[in-house]
Amino acid sequence: MAVDPIKQWYAKRERDLIANLKKNYKRPRANFVASELSACRLATWFRLMGYIPCARNPRGEDYGNDGNLHHDSVRNQMREGGMEIGDVTFNKDGTVEETGIYILNITHKWIKFNISMRLDGTLRLGVLKHTLEIKSLGYWKYKPIQKVWEDTESEAAVLGWLMKNRVDMIYQVHANMVATKLKQSYLVFKDRSDCAIGLHSSKNPKAITGGVVVPFSPTLWKGVLDKLAFIQRHIDSGVQPDPDFLEEVTACKYCNYHHLCHGAEKRRKKKLEPAIWHPQLGAKIHLDDNK
Ligand code: SF4
Repeated sequence: MAVDPIKQWYAKRERDLIANLKKNYKRPRANFVASELSACRLATWFRLMGYIPCARNPRGEDYGNDGNLHHDSVRNQMREGGMEIGDVTFNKDGTVEETGIYILNITHKWIKFNISMRLDGTLRLGVLKHTLEIKSLGYWKYKPIQKVWEDTESEAAVLGWLMKNRVDMIYQVHANMVATKLKQSYLVFKDRSDCAIGLHSSKNPKAITGGVVVPFSPTLWKGVLDKLAFIQRHIDSGVQPDPDFLEEVTACKYCNYHHLCHGAEKRRKKKLEPAIWHPQLGAKIHLDDNK
């Protein structure tokens, strides 16, 4: 039977990603990024200390590339709908270039650190300028948000749900607001499974909203800064912080540093290479080594 070309292609991409990681991995710049502000403290510490993450897999890459296309498609459609989106350049080939790139230099509790971000754009709702954040979500991530909208038709209820369940988005837009000195963000959802932009209701076809307006909360932002100062203090001292999750939770399954975390100490004591627990890199690289 002939070898399936797609299967071959994925296998090659996986080999290339691993080879590239082994050859080219460098300690990242010492910046927190706006999209990771709610991440586990230990995972962020591992990243910024330069520990080698697990290799990206081709499906993860595909999801990211597909997300970029959704972002461009949403912005082009918003523009065609007459909305003026700032801080981006629309190219003739349909791609959209983001020009709102910021690095915040922060001193909090006498600790210095940076947060970097790239805005999806800005736009005016009425007279007020908002930062624009687009979230294109797969079915299972989009559905619970849509359900809150369908059940309540209340943006406040959606915002309340996000504050509890998707604080990553709320933290990210807060960083965007601080960088731009704007006091409100417009969060737009897209369902990747059926390409609907915004939140729609199957119960009431007239109930449509892009998503929610997130107002700036100084209290919430202070909490974010407290957390980042805590991580930065541990980066400066080199002392590993405790993990956010003492037991393995769903977030741990997708963590790039899982091989160094739960059970790593036991594996070291038994003189097992942490690398053998790493599904992709095999035993040829010492994943405990961050030099
Ligand atoms: S495996 Fe879980 S607890 Fe450990 S660093 Fe990753 S997210 Fe944090």
